[in-house]
Amino acid sequence: DDSTVHVFSLATGHLYERFLKIMVLSVTSNTKRKVKFWLLENYLSPQFKKDVSKLVAGIGAEVEFVSYTWPSWLRGQTDLQRTIWGFKILFLDVLFPQDLEKIIFVDADQVMRTDIGELWDEDLEGKVWAYTPFCETNEETLGFQFWREGYWKELLGDSPYHISALYVIDLIKFRANLVGDHLRATYESLSADHNSLSNLDQDLPNFVSRDWPIKSLDVSWLWCETWCGTQTKPQAKTVDLCASPLTKEPKLDMARRIIHGDLFEESWDELDQRVKRIIADAPDESPPTSAANVKQDL
Ligand code: UDP
Ligand code: CA
Repeated sequence: DDSTVHVFSLATGHLYERFLKIMVLSVTSNTKRKVKFWLLENYLSPQFKKDVSKLVAGIGAEVEFVSYTWPSWLRGQTDLQRTIWGFKILFLDVLFPQDLEKIIFVDADQVMRTDIGELWDEDLEGKVWAYTPFCETNEETLGFQFWREGYWKELLGDSPYHISALYVIDLIKFRANLVGDHLRATYESLSADHNSLSNLDQDLPNFVSRDWPIKSLDVSWLWCETWCGTQTKPQAKTVDLCASPLTKEPKLDMARRIIHGDLFEESWDELDQRVKRIIADAPDESPPTSAANVKQDL
């Protein structure tokens, strides 16, 4: 199958830009499909935009930058990290050209180990979105698994709480069912309480999953050390460096420690070096222009 896989991601700051380039490389290297990356332009540095354009040219992928202004009528976030999390989920109906039918969101701090084409081909069974349920196999963090009891347990019943580091959106269904409006309205109401939506981009789809059920992907789709046991790591299709409430280990240390060893053809440092070489070897060219049609208000 040669249909293009469309991937959405975003980053702010030097470290996440560095992670994002490695994500782009790992996704593209593990598939024969054409991959097009749609990156939120708002917070990207000019240098990153040049570099990632060279990187995709060097590896045979594509990139397009999309931007969007946070609407004045929607409650803003003071913390940049939470603003970024908002952009992950709140504007999926208006960020991309209307003829784009499907998108896979991938966190910047992720390293793909398998063919993303498999995820692209997953049958969403009529649902608007697909997410991976949280692992519950790391004994050390059982006490931090807030979704196993209390509020989330009551809300979700027997349905799992899903992790938001990787997800598939059927954009046709998403737009037709006005899920974006529903998410923004839910966000506006829940965010009035500062203690609510502590994991904004993740709590929102889980919260509205009663109205818009989530197709649960196989847990092997998303492995992160914080919640998953080491025994399932060999099956990991992708590895996310999700933060650990237990160790609070810096992400760069985590990257070097986790993306390493038998399961990875290249260690994190080797991936990082390869990215740098591809960029250094690429000829200078003018960066692609950003899409002009996405700046209008909702
Ligand atoms: N992100 C970013 N800069 C930040 C925090 C987050 O660019 O300072 C983006 C980045 O794409 C990242 C995603 O938001 O992968 C989700 O945040 P993070 O991966 O830190 O969350 P975690 O996996 O630790 O829950
Ligand atoms: Ca992550």
